Amino acid sequence: MAEPPITNDALFARAQRVAPGGVNSPVRAFRSVGGTPYFVARGFGSKVWDVEGNEYLDYVQSYGASILGHAHPAVVAAVQAAAGDGSTFGAPTEREVLLAEEIAARVPGAEMVRLVNSGTEATMSAVRLARGATGRDRVVVFDGCYHGHSDGLLAGGGSGVATLGIPASAGVPAAAVSSTLVVPYNQVPALSDDVACVVVEPIAANMGLVPPAPGFLEGLRAECDRVGALLVFDEVITGFRVARGGAAQVFGVQPDLWCFGKVIGGGLPLAAFAGRRDLMTQLAPLGPIYQAGTLSGNPLATAAGLAVLGLLDDTAYAELATIAGKLAAGIAAACHDAGLQVQVPVAGPLLGVFFAASPVEDYEASKASAATGHYPGFMHGLLERGIAVAPGAYEVLFPSLAHSDADLARTVEAVGDVAAGLAAG
Ligand SMILES: *Cc1c(COP(=O)(O)O)cnc(C)c1O
Repeated sequence: MAEPPITNDALFARAQRVAPGGVNSPVRAFRSVGGTPYFVARGFGSKVWDVEGNEYLDYVQSYGASILGHAHPAVVAAVQAAAGDGSTFGAPTEREVLLAEEIAARVPGAEMVRLVNSGTEATMSAVRLARGATGRDRVVVFDGCYHGHSDGLLAGGGSGVATLGIPASAGVPAAAVSSTLVVPYNQVPALSDDVACVVVEPIAANMGLVPPAPGFLEGLRAECDRVGALLVFDEVITGFRVARGGAAQVFGVQPDLWCFGKVIGGGLPLAAFAGRRDLMTQLAPLGPIYQAGTLSGNPLATAAGLAVLGLLDDTAYAELATIAGKLAAGIAAACHDAGLQVQVPVAGPLLGVFFAASPVEDYEASKASAATGHYPGFMHGLLERGIAVAPGAYEVLFPSLAHSDADLARTVEAVGDVAAGLAAG
């Protein structure tokens, strides 16, 4: 007798018995949009297929970890070749040097690099370095930005005003965020001289897409310099995505430290923090600031990262921006024609969708867009039409280099259908 066909529902039921929420990262559970997640069986290029054989045009792309599209032949070959030579040693390897050299060459000012395994580790370690180097404790972050799930950076903010952090999760001690000040995005805060660092997403992409207001990043740089605080760009999404040198290159503002992730692992667990030589040399084993990792600089992950960066030249970035620009214009027009009010901000290869009458510049406005309640219908309407966008209103769309004009046209047409339904209520 044949095995019964596997279904998303059956797999999700099993998953929920052995994994909290059935997932290994909360947004994947579809809780904020309802319904059952599709379990991916495989992906190729712009598409993924679930365990039932349904095909989706994929704008999730692992939340930006995949920029060439899925299973790019160059990445597959690099990882396969690396795997045959052994997957981890606990001794340094050549590709760690090559990847650090590649990062330093692309990002002026990122003179030295430490590889880690996730964006969370990168930001957590950068903050430790900033505190160790300045001898100060206070950290300033912006409401609506995301810097991973370490205690000190899981701080919730107030409504459009500067507040000392309140724990944004159960299990985060008040003490862990008592030195974290949360301020509104796109306003330069007046800093006191006890600030170790200001951590910012130079293009915010975890509250939908919120580009920096003119002068915001320059203002942060000047204010940090005024009080001797370090400026940390969390470029886990924007790094190697918005340009060769990331957002620092696009806006011409140089931070003291960078955090990278997503794109540089080529779909494998790899992230990094980097910065000025005089700061990075304070890390162990050269200096007193401790940081370590059994799998850091992993041979498979560095192989994937190098393969991806090797294909990301200026032509690739121009192409990505063209793809995102076409998609954004198409989505905006389709929604407009359907009578649905949207904002579709675009920043290079990134784009977001807000249900709002005017441009969204901070978390308050982003929350108001989510509060319209349109997102779940938008997301599920697209999913029914074979198009996957993230199951959360605060995520952005990640078109990849594999998204074709035909893919974009199909997306715009589906958005038009879905928008008409939403506008009709
Ligand atoms: C995804 C993300 C992180 C966390 O990275 P993980 O690899 O998920 O730990 C940190 N900062 C930003 C801006 C991110 O988008």
